[in-house]
Amino acid sequence: MAGEPQADCLFCKIVAGEVPATVVRESETTVAFRDINPQAPTHVLVIPKAHYPDAASLAAAEPTVVADILREAAEVAAEDKVDTSGFRVVFNTGSGAGQTVFHAHLHVLGGRGFNWPPG
Ligand code: C5P
Repeated sequence: MAGEPQADCLFCKIVAGEVPATVVRESETTVAFRDINPQAPTHVLVIPKAHYPDAASLAAAEPTVVADILREAAEVAAEDKVDTSGFRVVFNTGSGAGQTVFHAHLHVLGGRGFNWPPG
């Protein structure tokens, strides 16, 4: 069923506490944890507790959870004090865009400068 945990999903295992992660925030619908391979001084992933393979499928099924994720991202940025200098949020969606884990996740990056367009 849509949104149900998937046995072979790494991020579902993090939600369940079966795989360790440095969790910085948790809400009713989301978990935020530090990326294991950080690309900036602040690099946190905010994920829905429900399993959807990407942001688009999450938005179609549970649009309010997308808002929850963005609100949590702003809280992470404020807690890490990168909100005033600016931070970047990224949903890689599809392998061609660099998505490697197929459980929706928002990257929150901050604490350094960023280029545009992104690489
Ligand atoms: O957007 P993409 O799917 O490539 O992002 C997946 C992210 O998950 C990577 O930045 C990777 O470092 C992170 N990751 C993690 N903890 C794991 C496995 C992957 O933070 N155990």
